Amino acid sequence: MKKRRKVRYDRIAVLVIGCVLLIGAIFAGVGCMKDDKRTKTSDHSVSSEKDPVKDITQVEGYQVLKDGGLSDEQIGEMTSLSNYWPQRAQRYAAYQGADTIEQTVLHVNMDLDMEPYENSVTVTDDSDMTLLVNKSHALPEGYIPADLKVMEQYACIAGEDYSCQDVAYMELRSEALNAYYQWCQAAQEREIQIRAIAAYRSYDYQAGLWNYNAGLYGTEYADQYYARPGQSEHNSGLAVDITFNGHNFNEIELYDGYEWILSSAHEYGFILRYPEEKQDITRYGYESWHFRYVGKDAAKIIYENNWTLEEYHGSQKEEKTQN
Ligand SMILES: [Zn+2]
Repeated sequence: MKKRRKVRYDRIAVLVIGCVLLIGAIFAGVGCMKDDKRTKTSDHSVSSEKDPVKDITQVEGYQVLKDGGLSDEQIGEMTSLSNYWPQRAQRYAAYQGADTIEQTVLHVNMDLDMEPYENSVTVTDDSDMTLLVNKSHALPEGYIPADLKVMEQYACIAGEDYSCQDVAYMELRSEALNAYYQWCQAAQEREIQIRAIAAYRSYDYQAGLWNYNAGLYGTEYADQYYARPGQSEHNSGLAVDITFNGHNFNEIELYDGYEWILSSAHEYGFILRYPEEKQDITRYGYESWHFRYVGKDAAKIIYENNWTLEEYHGSQKEEKTQN
């Protein structure tokens, strides 16, 4: 404290009382300031101080993880992950398919602890362009997107070449369609003529396809080659199968121009949905032609992290879909 020639005792008294109250409050409120080596510069240092001894047993899901055989150390590591979802604690504890805690959480968040089509979640909110439709997430029975629009250009329909669809028209959801047009336009400027060979497919169409094959060859066969009704991304109106410059759609990755398609897709909000090296996660074989609209923000994140849509969702702080 600064010494002054003229001392005002009343001010000092106020100051001393103030200091005593402040110090008292600090000790009473925190109780562990002895450990604090930082200088106490102002009272806001108190509120920003974190309790150094976190009681792990109070973390949501602790008992479930403990009962599942995890040590306190493992629980500490797991529960401090940003994508730890407490409601899945039991499933984390039971999962044996990963080597690390981090992998365990991500895998379970992606439902890899369940068999395909086991306990599928029904997706009820289609306002989010990143919505997940896969072997653990199904669109409701009879789902039809409300904002489907007919593809007026860049579509390949019957008669153009053999890999084109034998349909009168194709549709995508409005936002996805506009983005698709922009992407095709940019491609065209590079002499890459992108054409859609499949877009929206109805629930009934998928049901017919799956039921027909399941009836003839059994469910195992049908599941291997066809998505179940409500679980084909094409039902969402956000997926498009493409070819370019008249190549066979299932070998477009072999031709010049495909590199540009791959590296530019995210700028228009699209991702390659089933990459070759991610089959364990997507549970689909490699499809070089199948692109999915997720919106520009998510597409950029997915592209830059080399993620799939499953990894994107599994890395979020909170679970988006309800189980
Ligand atoms: Zn497709």
